[in-house]
Amino acid sequence: MKRSFAIVGLGRFGGSICRTLVESGQEVLAIDNNEDRVNEYMNIATHAVVANAQDEMTLRSLGIRNFDYVIVAIGEDIQASILVTLMVKEMGVPTVLAKAQNEYHARVLEKIGADRVVHPERDMGNRIAHNLVSRNILDYLELSDEYSLAEIVVTNRKFYGKTIQELDFRQRFDLNIVAIRRVGKKEPIVTPTADEVVLQDDHLVVIGKDVSIDYLDEKMNG
Ligand code: ATP
Repeated sequence: MKRSFAIVGLGRFGGSICRTLVESGQEVLAIDNNEDRVNEYMNIATHAVVANAQDEMTLRSLGIRNFDYVIVAIGEDIQASILVTLMVKEMGVPTVLAKAQNEYHARVLEKIGADRVVHPERDMGNRIAHNLVSRNILDYLELSDEYSLAEIVVTNRKFYGKTIQELDFRQRFDLNIVAIRRVGKKEPIVTPTADEVVLQDDHLVVIGKDVSIDYLDEKMNG
């Protein structure tokens, strides 16, 4: 489905979102007050304009309110990021995603109505740290303070060749397996049924409490 996106701020974060969205066939309006940045994206974005997004009239004349998604990718100028987020939300944009520079900034963005707040450095640091401390955890995505999604590799022989039911997975670990990635298989097994057999080196994509993920991680070590 084709949706319309407007990106405010063409730093590394906004720029990379812009490229990926265009590559996946989406329509993207790219806005930055720095002319050099806009020139860089002139041939990439569907439209690229030099504009100060803090100016309400400018946002209105660009027709921001008609976009399905607005991504506020301004980092350093926290005041600008907050003001732009507030204005686009007030104009009625259905989904506004904003990049936060720190925890305080993130909380303000959430309070003023950002639908999604991302903190790329913190989130990526978190993912990498989990991967570094455990050889079983390949990826980790925080969903809230308490819940996460993790990809765990099956390295304990007690799991090999058993069905999810035989492992009594949900009862024992209080986790849901949302997908299994299998070596040599291009497509993952999505929402596996209880009779799915778990094999050595399978990657289990699980969702649940952090404590439960840690427990499963421990059990993988024997
Ligand atoms: P990244 O880490 O993604 O490279 P950053 O955290 O360094 O980004 P900034 O460089 O502060 O973020 O901002 C990203 C872009 O947003 C810059 O290109 C900047 O010119 C643009 N920008 C900042 N304020 C405004 C504004 N009011 N209107 C339009 N663009 C803006």
